[in-house]
Amino acid sequence: MLNHTQSDRLALEANKVIVGGVNSPSRSFKGVGGGNPVTMDHGDGAYLYDVDGNRYIDYLAAYGPIITGFNHPHIVKAIKHAADTGVLFGTPTEHEVTFAKMLTEAIPSMDKVRFTNSGTEAVMTTVRVARAYTERELIVKFTGQYHGHFDLVLVEAGSGPATLGTTDSGGITKGTSKEVITVPYNDVESYKAVMEKWGDQVAAVLVEPIVGNFGMVAPKPGFLEAVNEITHEYGALVIYDEVITNFRFHYGAAQDMLGVVPDLTAFGKSIGGGLPIGAYGGPTRIMDTVAPLGPAYQAGTMAGNPLSMQAGIACLEVLQEPGIYERMADFAVQLKEALLEAGEKYDIPTVVNQIGGSLTVYFSEHPIEDYADAENTDTERFGKFFKAMLDEGINLAPSKYEAWFLTIMHTQEDIDETKCAIDRAFSKLV
Ligand code: PLP
Repeated sequence: MLNHTQSDRLALEANKVIVGGVNSPSRSFKGVGGGNPVTMDHGDGAYLYDVDGNRYIDYLAAYGPIITGFNHPHIVKAIKHAADTGVLFGTPTEHEVTFAKMLTEAIPSMDKVRFTNSGTEAVMTTVRVARAYTERELIVKFTGQYHGHFDLVLVEAGSGPATLGTTDSGGITKGTSKEVITVPYNDVESYKAVMEKWGDQVAAVLVEPIVGNFGMVAPKPGFLEAVNEITHEYGALVIYDEVITNFRFHYGAAQDMLGVVPDLTAFGKSIGGGLPIGAYGGPTRIMDTVAPLGPAYQAGTMAGNPLSMQAGIACLEVLQEPGIYERMADFAVQLKEALLEAGEKYDIPTVVNQIGGSLTVYFSEHPIEDYADAENTDTERFGKFFKAMLDEGINLAPSKYEAWFLTIMHTQEDIDETKCAIDRAFSKLV
């Protein structure tokens, strides 16, 4: 057992002054059988070090953003430059233009972009823009997909709330709940039925094209194409939430890899080099609905701040390095194979969904294709696995609904060490 004396002491202190001891509920250990989350001290490359001096190989990647590792020198240099030259002006800067050009060049569905401070803000604004553009009110979303923490999308909202055993948040009005219709992911017939009934009132459908919030789940062949076709038939817009998937599988958005084109896209996480960021964009005809050109208001004192912009630019520069996505995917395949082998060796039903450099392990006898499948996996066994891995010095998300993310800093030695840890962790599950 690792020594967590200082970590536990700080958890006790944290619980007195921070609600639940955490600043985001998914960081608590409620979904893995309880206990104190580990208090980390610093990160270096692919490793985290806790306040007791334990080292962990990290696959949480801060829930996605840390794709280049914790302290990539190119990003550190950009952050230092911003610190030296001013982190916030409240005026336009050249960095915003540079970064906007990089994004619009990498993602063809987007002529124009706006920066926000978080993924939540980005998705929230795409919804407002879609409503202003279509002059309609209803939104359709898919069960278990998480789109941030604004009221409308906390209905049946996947990983965070699901880990805590709730599907909806308190404090959301009945009126708001009535503005959103949820249907199962990967189920064209259900979506078609909803659109037949409500389609002429629907402003937009909100979709994680590849799901990251009930683990990594790929769209079935033809699903996204059918959603696009049906949505447009009714004059509504398709919004992709690519907050997790942007720059995760290749240099660009998942939409290009999948060959599908949304009307609006929300971005976040990996584009910021670890700093607070979000962005949204689309074609000029829709984006010009945004103030000051159009009626849809969106603003932000910190939006497009020089610090996040420079870190984001540096991060995208790093992500252009040849071969990095292939290496992350190769490592993820190796981990998938190790998990499946361990499942067989110890006779533990195990499913792994792996897409590029990301994967989710489920303790289940059945494939995971929608939220109900993910919900029906073995929560208790996942909790034990999570804790056994932590004890082996492997840091994962404390929830069966989350993903492991590879970073460009992981090495073959890290993967080999993780494979041994997987075997030992599985041996404790029988
Ligand atoms: N959309 C998706 C798909 C997410 O996974 C998240 C966060 O996990 C968000 C939106 C919200 O982003 P943020 O936490 O930056 O507000």
